[in-house]
Amino acid sequence: MIELRLKAYAKINLGLDVLRRREDGYHEVKMIMQTIGLYDRITLKKMREPGIQVKTNLYYLPENENNLVYQAAELLMDEFQLKSGVMIDLQKFIPVAAGMAGGSSDAAAVLYGMNRMFRLGLSKKDLMRRGVKIGADVPYCIMRGTALAEGIGEQLSPLKPMPKCRILVAKPPISVSTKFVYENLKLEKDTKHPDIDGILQGIESGNLQEIAAHMGNLLETVTIPYHPVIAQIKEEMVQGGALNAMMSGSGPTVFGLFENENLAEETCRKLREGNLTKQVYLADVYNNYRK
Ligand code: ATP
Repeated sequence: MIELRLKAYAKINLGLDVLRRREDGYHEVKMIMQTIGLYDRITLKKMREPGIQVKTNLYYLPENENNLVYQAAELLMDEFQLKSGVMIDLQKFIPVAAGMAGGSSDAAAVLYGMNRMFRLGLSKKDLMRRGVKIGADVPYCIMRGTALAEGIGEQLSPLKPMPKCRILVAKPPISVSTKFVYENLKLEKDTKHPDIDGILQGIESGNLQEIAAHMGNLLETVTIPYHPVIAQIKEEMVQGGALNAMMSGSGPTVFGLFENENLAEETCRKLREGNLTKQVYLADVYNNYRK
């Protein structure tokens, strides 16, 4: 196999709770992850000359060891002492630094692809164990589908697939640093935590309305006061007929769940024509777990 084409899917968080700050500075989280049909395209090419080359369609992304796809390739090349090189062509469509795990998903796809291309014989579990060295979300991006993530996000329990619906995604033109959000999160006795168990019940019973009714993201308490545009987009989605709308991860991307296709398309059009953001996408639930 000389060339391999891969899709690296984005995720949203149907729920995101932070339980506590650990002594080592990491935060213990409880999140419901869901893969959606919005993806980057990655082509891997085996090269005769050793080394890793990265090309991307976005001028502001690194094409060196700072790109997570590079780190993923390097990890396996070093461990298995691979003699041939690899060229990675990365076409980004997932919004960058947006709370959708774009970089982690790219890294996951490269680990998966290199394992096949070089016949390394690693199982999904083996890949997940290596992936966490690159980022806490990488193991989930290898697994995909609907999952509960605990610990720092790396302890995963697969769940029943979430019911089908249309997902409207809108990224406002602002940058939010994940580090800043976690550093400014206040966890106190009276902090109102999202009802993650309520979402779990909704997933278990296959009830989209119940899932939507319990959606919550504790990190909104940090980002929304700084960036009211997040609340404005949520409001537009709900006005447009979303069952509920929420920020994904540490933001700033907002997503809305729609049962009604026409309302989803109409709200998509309105958002694109408005002045809150131009980065608006419609996607489906993606529930193919990797074997
Ligand atoms: P998360 O949901 O895990 O917080 P994110 O959506 O906030 O992820 P990413 O898009 O994964 O963030 O990337 C954040 C930063 O990582 C970018 O500023 C970028 O410079 C760097 N980066 C490195 N590799 C990649 C990649 N393959 N795709 C996107 N960003 C990358």
